[in-house]
Parts: sequence; C-alpha cells; structure tokens
Amino acid sequence: MTGSALELRAVTKDYGPVTALADVDLDVGEGETVALLGPNGAGKSTLLSIALGLRTPGSGTARVLGRRPLEALRAGRIGVLLQESGLLEDVRVGELVAAVAGMYPAPLTPERAMRAAGVEELAGQRVGRLSGGQRQRVRFALCVVGDPDLLVLDEPTVGLDVEGRRALWKELRARTGQGRTAVFATHYLAEADDYADRVVLLAGGRVVADGSVATVKSLVGGNEVRCTLHDADLSDLEILPGVLRVSVEGRSVSLRTKDSDATLRALFAMFGDVRDVRVESADLESAFVSLTGGRD
Ligand code: ADP
Ligand code: MG
Repeated sequence: MTGSALELRAVTKDYGPVTALADVDLDVGEGETVALLGPNGAGKSTLLSIALGLRTPGSGTARVLGRRPLEALRAGRIGVLLQESGLLEDVRVGELVAAVAGMYPAPLTPERAMRAAGVEELAGQRVGRLSGGQRQRVRFALCVVGDPDLLVLDEPTVGLDVEGRRALWKELRARTGQGRTAVFATHYLAEADDYADRVVLLAGGRVVADGSVATVKSLVGGNEVRCTLHDADLSDLEILPGVLRVSVEGRSVSLRTKDSDATLRALFAMFGDVRDVRVESADLESAFVSLTGGRD
C-alpha cells in the first residue's frame, strides 16, 4: 500500500455567483502522475491552490501527504509551479534558485536544478530581464530544487518553447520514475495523454471523468482490441470483461470494449495463443469534447 499524496473531500468553492468547484473528491496516491485536464475556467487552478492551502475552500477538506496542506508545504515536501506566480525581479537567477533551495531540508544543488530546467546559462542574469519563457523555466527550477516528494504544477508548459517543454517533461519523468508524485494541470490533451498515468477531467467545477488515459478515452465509444487467435470461440470472447461487441474473420478477432485494460488482461489469461495484439483508441480529444460538453 502506498500512502496518500493528496486528498480532497467534498470541496466546494464559490467566487460570488461563480461556482469554481462543486463537491470535488479526489485521491492521489504516492507515486502517481495525474493530469488535471479541463478547459479554461474548469476550476483547475482553484483546485490546486486549495490542495496547497493557498486558498481556503468554501466547504470540504484538503490533506497533503497526510497533513494539513500548509504544514506539508512548510515541511518542504512539495515543489510548486503556479500559473503566473510572481518572481523576485532584482535578484539574479542563480541567487533566487539558491535562496529557494535553502528553504528545503534536503535540496538539490542550485546548479543541478538550473541544468534540469535549462537555465544554467542564465544564472548570472537578473530575473527582471528574462523573457516569459525563460521565467517559466526558472519557475520550474524552483519547483524541483527542493527535491520534493510531491510536485504540483499548474499549466507548466505555457509559454515554453519546444526545447523547454522537452526538458521539463524529461525531468518530471525522471522524478516520477523514482516514485515521486506529480499532479499537473493542463488544457493540452496531448500532455495528459503522453505524460500522465491518470487523468482527472474537470468541467464546470466538477470531476466528469477520472481514470487511466485509456479508461477516459474508452468512456466515449470505447476502444477496439484486435488480435489473432487460432480457434477462438465466439461465446468465450463475448464474456470477456468490458467487451461490447465481437467480430471474427478467420483468425482475425476484433473486440469493441469499454475497458481495454480489463479486456486485455483477461484475453491474455484465457488465450495462451493470442498474437498480434493491438489497441486502437477513441482519441482523448473526442472523450474530452463529449465529456466537457465541448466547452473548449
Ligand atoms: P482553470 O484554472 O481551470 O482555468 P480557475 O480555477 O482559474 O479555472 O477558475 C475557475 C472559475 O472561477 C472561473 O470561472 C474563474 O473565472 C473563476 N475564478 C477563479 N479565480 C477567481 C477569483 N479570484 N475571483 C473570481 N472568480 C475567480
Ligand atoms: Mg488555471
């Protein structure tokens, strides 16, 4: 059993007449990489800032790494990259990264964090002189420099060029590969698809889907599992979990499924001679549009 990285219970948040979050429950386990996906205004930033204790919920509770959010933040176990957060302008990049490193109990060296974010060459520059993309890279260096167990990033690649994005995902992957937890908000479907093992789809302040990328995709129309089987019995295939429809042509089998993960597991378990297995997915975009009511 892994511990809980993040736990929201019945969280609501209103801004005057606007309901930003409505009764949101969310559990993120340690080691997970979760994409909080949703169109603009869905409530992603509100959710993350409540999870971090930076905004108070109207009702409901948030726990981070088993503690109250601000306690976890102060204990130096969380790295944060917030949307458009301000940076000190008059200091040099290297000084800023070193100062933030000093707030954590067991940080990386500033050089290591700057290298990961691709801002080594900017170490001597004043923050106030940086371009938008360079500032975003610096925010990322600040997010990782504490070597935190939990990374929370709000739209981390906005404003980054291709190289900056690549560096960011490479570093994030290296960290999650070591068992650390990452939760990132994005409105880019491809980022959720490529980098998350779980997608929480938010629309109008509500969680409208939560599961593996494959599961969320399969909520619309499902996936197609194709394979080759020698003597497949139609009735055996029809009872596989998730399967909606079966078609067999000679040795070629095609299974329409609403849960390709479960179907595949059972397929491999039941048919020793299964070959050439492929899954063709309904793409995440059609899932997104259908589940969020096409709000983006
Ligand atoms: P996202 O990050 O998904 O784009 P936000 O959490 O920023 O969404 O916003 C959710 C909703 O709450 C939006 O309708 C937004 O306009 C509103 N909102 C967010 N912050 C504030 C605020 N400080 N005051 C008033 N309304 C806000
Ligand atoms: Mg936002």
